[in-house]
Amino acid sequence: MESLPQLPSEFTTLLDALVPEHYREQVDASYCQPGPTHFRLNPLKGEPAATLEELASLQPQAVPGFPLTYQLPPESREALTHSPAASDGRLYIQGLSSMAAILALDPQPEEEILDLAAAPGGKTSLIAVGMANTGRLAAVEAVKPRYFKLKANLERLGVSNAHCYLKDGAIVGRLTPERFDRVLLDAPCSSEAQFSRLSPDSWAHWSPRKVKEMARKQGKLIRSAMDALKPGGRLVYCTCALSPEENEVILSDALEKRSDMALEALELPAILPSLPGLTVWKGKALHPTVDLSRRILPGPLSDAFFISSLRKKG
Ligand code: SAM
Repeated sequence: MESLPQLPSEFTTLLDALVPEHYREQVDASYCQPGPTHFRLNPLKGEPAATLEELASLQPQAVPGFPLTYQLPPESREALTHSPAASDGRLYIQGLSSMAAILALDPQPEEEILDLAAAPGGKTSLIAVGMANTGRLAAVEAVKPRYFKLKANLERLGVSNAHCYLKDGAIVGRLTPERFDRVLLDAPCSSEAQFSRLSPDSWAHWSPRKVKEMARKQGKLIRSAMDALKPGGRLVYCTCALSPEENEVILSDALEKRSDMALEALELPAILPSLPGLTVWKGKALHPTVDLSRRILPGPLSDAFFISSLRKKG
């Protein structure tokens, strides 16, 4: 492990501040080895039981708390990726923490739902599963090549209730105020959860400055997401960043300005250990309800993730 490249020192300082002592060993180990592969069978394309039968030789293990979701050891990833079921969209390889964000959103049939930062569409397609391909799903993406990737993926995965928009998500709230039953903002972020000491490129574009730049973007997007939500509706804000500036601080600043929004408690499947959101960062007190958000720590089963669920009053 020691011979692997070291993570940036500013990042390990961040881990020192965020990770409790008893978790530190598992967190450090997670940056040095590939974790298991998780995938979900896609009921919008093919018959899940038949797809599972087709994969029997890989011996997938069901994951408790996650519908139609299975685990394989890291060495089976290649075979799964190249399986006919993966290429034609009968299954989708996806991390447990990403799937947990959609469990928190809890999409329902016949609703109108907005995914405000959607490409490549992994979470959009899981929202469509929850909606049973009914209602209306708006998927927004601002980056052109990623927008085309989103469209292609949704088609391959059998999603028929989605409309894709090449747009800056920050203006969507103004264009469609109080329209959606639920909104997902899986915000563009510094991607700190994807760091791996096996692949130093994973942090090539990271710096504390990048964190600040992403935080500015996230602040605009969350305001737009809140505007687009119907009274009584639910907003899930999540990132694959560890920095509180991209998570608790974004929520805290938004809640200070918006008395119509409130955080709500969040239950995640028990196999994903998580900590409450921080209510103090760098000596500054944050909005006291921010502890209702959850920080999934990097570990043997999943990458790090931050998930929060907010309700618009009324
Ligand atoms: N939810 C996606 C999934 O699970 O497949 C991943 C989303 S990724 C974390 C964030 C996405 O937001 C990126 O595709 C990025 O290009 C897009 N993005 C960045 N700025 C945006 C903006 N202003 N409006 C909408 N999308 C934006």
